[in-house]
Amino acid sequence: MCGVFGIYGVPEAAKLAYLGLYALQHRGQESAGIASSDMGKVYSRVAMGLVADIFTPQDLDSLKGSSAIGHTRYSTTGSSTIKNAQPIVVDYSHGTMAMAHNGNLTNARQVRDFLEAHGSIFSSTTDTEVLIHLIATSEGNKLIDCIVDALTQIKGAYSLIILTKKKLIGAVDPNNIRPLSLGKKGDGWVLASETCAFDIIDAEYVRPLEPGEIVVIDKDGLKSYKPFKPQQPAKCIFEYVYFARPDSYIWGNSVQKARKALGAQLAKEFPVKADYVVPVPDSSNSAATGYSSESKIPYEMGIIRNHYIGRTFIEPSQTIRDFGAKIKYNPVKEILKDKKLILIDDSIVRGTTGKKLVKMLRTVGAKEVHWRISSPPITNSCFYGVDTPTRKELIAAGNTVEKIREFMGVETLGYLSPEGMVKAVGGKMDEYCMACFSGAYPVDSANIQKCISEEKNEEKF
Ligand code: AMP
Repeated sequence: MCGVFGIYGVPEAAKLAYLGLYALQHRGQESAGIASSDMGKVYSRVAMGLVADIFTPQDLDSLKGSSAIGHTRYSTTGSSTIKNAQPIVVDYSHGTMAMAHNGNLTNARQVRDFLEAHGSIFSSTTDTEVLIHLIATSEGNKLIDCIVDALTQIKGAYSLIILTKKKLIGAVDPNNIRPLSLGKKGDGWVLASETCAFDIIDAEYVRPLEPGEIVVIDKDGLKSYKPFKPQQPAKCIFEYVYFARPDSYIWGNSVQKARKALGAQLAKEFPVKADYVVPVPDSSNSAATGYSSESKIPYEMGIIRNHYIGRTFIEPSQTIRDFGAKIKYNPVKEILKDKKLILIDDSIVRGTTGKKLVKMLRTVGAKEVHWRISSPPITNSCFYGVDTPTRKELIAAGNTVEKIREFMGVETLGYLSPEGMVKAVGGKMDEYCMACFSGAYPVDSANIQKCISEEKNEEKF
């Protein structure tokens, strides 16, 4: 994943980018960065860690200008190191360019091999840098021509924001796999992965970018380009299930509304008599309210999550490491003892969190645990920008639902059907990427299948 943000034509742009990134922190916690422009020079600061820990007031003062872009990183290609942090800023023959990317380019390895064979030298291991090289080496006259030329040569998922000294550019791939929205702040413009980044700076939501759309914003206003042949959209449905914030709109739709509908649909598909509907907080809160309204079974915050676990949490020693999930979750005994529970989670990936949680619920005296998942079994890795493990680590890839139920130690287990998931989110089956549930990769499938069969998907290109 990753969060991207861009703003043009607004004073103190870097400070607003900081707030935008703060709202997009859930999309990536490994590193963050801001690049700004005062029309004459591009300034930047990138570092490892959380947005609020990285930028000092002095940093923000030094990021001058009325346009800026920012990035929060959650690595899917390239390791989690400072050299892979974004925005990537480069000086090249046409000037200075900064780039922030959400997504995963599926043919980046091949393009990089080609570029390296022709003398290019890379300073990071990200797929994003491949795009920078393609733009920089393009023979196009205008920037937009160079960008189109570069994007024509790559495959996969991108929601992209580029800053030059005088322009802000936003682009989404022709299948629109990742979201990117356009907003207005006074006379200026804003771009962000999710609209929660507009709310925090009082910007107005205008619309989502369309499949394959490129917007170029400069002193003359906004120009929209659609240079690619129209493709079938393949919007990542997992954004609605888990990734995006519920207070955001993505592709024009409310995430909270979709997530509640997922829970309601789950209640229709897998009803069961119980005392309480309990979410695994926080990612399942919205689905659990939907399940509760539909089933008329009361919603209870039976599990409390500790919000202060940073990525740097140190497991003190082997002897107490086995407390495991307790560091993050604690069950409320008063509520759960002797009760029949419907436990709602958005997804099961490896199955480790769920197993520990169920054990905890039993320890505090839960009488029955009926586990309900507001998405289908995850059976395949994502190659378009969500960090999922390899197939062999996915519990649903090699096990039936009954086997998983047994492993988890629950009375019943129900996963939402793919049809039910799309019905809840809205739209048609074929407008979504559901590859993690189905194995049907909508973009660059042959290359992905080759990678899977060579068992190289640990590297994800
Ligand atoms: P697991 O213990 O591996 O089964 O993890 C399941 C939990 O991870 C679910 O409750 C989800 O909320 C969360 N989750 C799902 N997908 C991801 C992801 N790509 N990255 C991090 N967490 C995830």
